[in-house]
Amino acid sequence: MENGKTLKEIGWNFDNSYARLPESFFKSVNPTHVRSPKLIFLNDQLATIMGLSFQELKSEEGVEFLAGNRIPEGAAPLAQAYAGHQFGNFTMLGDGRAVLLAEQITPEDERFDIQLKGSGRTPYSRGGDGRASLGPMLREYIISEAMYALGIPTNRSLAVVTTGEAVIRETELPGAILTRVADSHLRVGTFQYVAKWGKGKDLETLADYTINRHFPDVETSETRYLSLLQEVIKRQAELIAKWQLVGFIHGVMNTDNMAISGETIDYGPCAFMNSYNPATVFSSIDRQGRYAYGNQPPIGGWNLARFAETLLPLLHEDSEKAVKIAQAEISNYMELYRSHWLAGMRSKLGIFNEETDDESLINDLLVMMEKYQSDYTNTFRALTFDKPADFVLFGTPEFAKWKEVWQSRLERQEESRASSHRLMQRSNPAVIPRNHRVEEALEAAVENEDYSVMEKLLEVLSSPYDHSLEQEDYCTPPPESSQPYQTFCGT
Ligand code: AMP
Ligand code: MG
Repeated sequence: MENGKTLKEIGWNFDNSYARLPESFFKSVNPTHVRSPKLIFLNDQLATIMGLSFQELKSEEGVEFLAGNRIPEGAAPLAQAYAGHQFGNFTMLGDGRAVLLAEQITPEDERFDIQLKGSGRTPYSRGGDGRASLGPMLREYIISEAMYALGIPTNRSLAVVTTGEAVIRETELPGAILTRVADSHLRVGTFQYVAKWGKGKDLETLADYTINRHFPDVETSETRYLSLLQEVIKRQAELIAKWQLVGFIHGVMNTDNMAISGETIDYGPCAFMNSYNPATVFSSIDRQGRYAYGNQPPIGGWNLARFAETLLPLLHEDSEKAVKIAQAEISNYMELYRSHWLAGMRSKLGIFNEETDDESLINDLLVMMEKYQSDYTNTFRALTFDKPADFVLFGTPEFAKWKEVWQSRLERQEESRASSHRLMQRSNPAVIPRNHRVEEALEAAVENEDYSVMEKLLEVLSSPYDHSLEQEDYCTPPPESSQPYQTFCGT
C-alpha cells in the first residue's frame, strides 16, 4: 500500500474464498467514494477479536477504509448474487447496497466476512440508491450487539461511519455505512439463486463450499449433502427457539434473510416484544402478520423447505426419492425446534430435569400472560426474583394456583432452590433493547449528534444477565401509547 498504513499496522489478514467461486456467483465492485467520512461508533472489543487494531481503525486512514474510500491491499470487494422469497414471492435480489470487502482470518484462525452496508450502488441495486441512512445503521448496531450479549448467534457490527452526504428518503437524512461482520453471508437465497440460474456443477460447488466453510465435520461423508441439510435445519431450529425465548421478532424472515450459518442476519424492522402476545408484529410492511412472533417457528420451517428444494438434485438422482428424503428431514424441524424451546423454557422456570407435564405448565403460564397482557421479559424476571411486582397477573387466583404447581415441580427435582435461582438468572435477561430506549438513543444521535445516550444503552445491553441496580431504569416497558409501535425496513 503506497504511503499508507501497512497491512500489519491495521491487522488485515485476508483470504477471499468467495471471490474464487464461479463468476456468476457475484460481481466485483468497489464501494462508491463518499465526501467526508466520520467515525461514529467503533466496536473495540470486536476489532480485537478480529485481530484489527482499533487505534489504527480510528485514525483518518482507518476511517477511509470503513467508509469504502480506500480499499485495503489484498481485499477483493464484491456484491453477492442471491434470490429469495419475499413475503412468499420468489425474486432475484443480490447485494444492492453492500459489498463484501474481504474475508478476515483472525488470530484464532477464524474466518469472518467484512461487509460494508450502505456503500453505494452495485449491479444488483435495481432502482435503489445503494445507500443507507444513519438511524437504521445505528439501530442494527444496537440490536445485533444486544443479541450477541444475549447469547444468540448473530452477525455483529464493527463500525458505523457517516458519509457527509445526504440520502433522500421521505426527508433528507444523514448517509451512513455499517461495517458488518458475519460467519458468512451465505443465505437460503444464495442456494435459490444457484439452483435456479446456476450452470453445470455450480450447485455442487456452492454446497461443497458451504460444507467446507461451516460444516467441515461432514466434508468426507458420502451423504454430505444430506448432512448439510440436517445441519442447517438443526441450527435454524436452535436459533429460532432462542429468538422466541427472549421475545425477539425478526420482522422480515424472507428466505434471503435466513443465513445458512445459523446466525441472525438482516436487522431491518426487527424489535422485541413487550407484553406477551403471539400475534405481535411491528413491521409496517407486514400487514398480514406473516412474520408475527408466533409465526416465526413455522415460517422457519417454510424457509427450510425452500432450502431443501434447492438441494434435491444433490440428495438423490431419482427425483422422487430426493423429495422423500427432503420431506423426512423437514418434518423433523418442528420437533427439533420444540425440544430447544422446551429446554429453554424449563431453564427460564428454573427446571433442570424433564417431566411430561412441563409443557402444559409452561403453556398455562403463557396463556395467563397473554390474557393479562404481562410484559414478557419482566414476568420471567419477577419469577426469578420471586418479586411478583405490580402486574395484574400476579394478583389473580389463577396465578396463585399455577405458582403452587410450579413450586411443587421445583420441589420434585434434586437441585437446590439456589441453583434453580441461578439457572433462572442466566436464562432470563434483565434488559432487552426496549423499543422506546432504542428510539431515544437514535433520536439523540441523529437529531442532535449526541451519541452518549446510545453509548449508555450499549453498555447496559452488553451484560443482560447481570441483574444489577444500574439496569433498573432500562427494564421498564414503554408507556402505553395510542399508536402501536411500528418499524420500517432499514433503508
Ligand atoms: P432487505 O429488505 O434489506 O433484505 O433488502 C432486500 C433487497 O433490497 C436486497 O437485495 C437489498 O440489497 C436491496 N436494497 C435495499 N435497500 C436498497 C437500496 N437503498 N439500494 C439498493 N438496493 C437496496
Ligand atoms: Mg436482506
